[in-house]
Amino acid sequence: MRTKKLGRTGEEIPAIGQGTWKMGHEMAADILALKAGIEAGMRFIDTAEMYGSEPVVREAALGEDVFIATKVSPSHFSHDAVIKACDQSLKKLGVKRIDLYQLHWPNPSIPIEETMGAMEELVSDGKIRYIGISNFSVDQTIEAQHALKSNEIVSNQVEYNLLSRGIEDELLDYCRKEGITLIAYSPFARGEMFDGRYKAQLRLLAEIGNKYGVTPAQVALNWLISKAPVVAIPKAASRDHAMENAAAAGFELTKNEVDRIGSAFE
Ligand code: NAP
Repeated sequence: MRTKKLGRTGEEIPAIGQGTWKMGHEMAADILALKAGIEAGMRFIDTAEMYGSEPVVREAALGEDVFIATKVSPSHFSHDAVIKACDQSLKKLGVKRIDLYQLHWPNPSIPIEETMGAMEELVSDGKIRYIGISNFSVDQTIEAQHALKSNEIVSNQVEYNLLSRGIEDELLDYCRKEGITLIAYSPFARGEMFDGRYKAQLRLLAEIGNKYGVTPAQVALNWLISKAPVVAIPKAASRDHAMENAAAAGFELTKNEVDRIGSAFE
């Protein structure tokens, strides 16, 4: 599996990880899919206290070397609530330390200094390794970084896929310049990419995919990770999809192909 730098930490994480939103209802099948993904190299799993999928991640990652990212909900951004939420996530995940702990969405009603104070305490107490954010704009990212005294924000998790390109205006370049990893969520636009509305664009992905012996979905993921700071976290509830997604990092689109695909979906 191709790896990417996590912020400026020197740590490398898989360029393609696994999302787990909506997992947990079909426990056995979800665990099988996640385990297949882990074996195929997607040793990076994203969850959140809000998803209810932490126990599934626990089962799937048991005894495995997996980089685990979870999130604290905005309603828990007061100092004490952050600490409590983290303790609960540690328990549900069955780990001593969370690799990446992310603020799920900005919450302007609680001073970011208070939230980040708690996050730094969690780092010094050894309960989390790295601090990340999610759904933060450039200005909110700058504000969040200023609220930290001795840690850096290593990642910002935002929606990014061929149909949703808003972050290309500003945030993508900002992250590249500042050495912040951009974790692309909903890389398949929640599956909307394949719902029949984008036939011409999918034909292009198929045509380019033929050259590499890969599927349109793999081309779509590869297009995302072709951008320097981007890692992607597709969700796959089936073993076949998980293995397909893991193999999407195994080739490199040319600059010309990256541009053609980008324009076709504009
Ligand atoms: P997504 O990954 O864009 O799309 C998931 C859909 O694509 C599912 O229907 C899945 O089907 C299908 N799929 C997966 N692999 C495929 C393949 N190779 N070929 C064709 N279809 C495929 O959607 P998402 O769950 O919204 O996003 C991924 C993750 O991002 C989430 O699970 C979550 O961890 C994270 N996320 C974060 C936020 C946030 O606010 N931070 C918000 C949304 C999502 P099957 O399940 O049947 O395999």
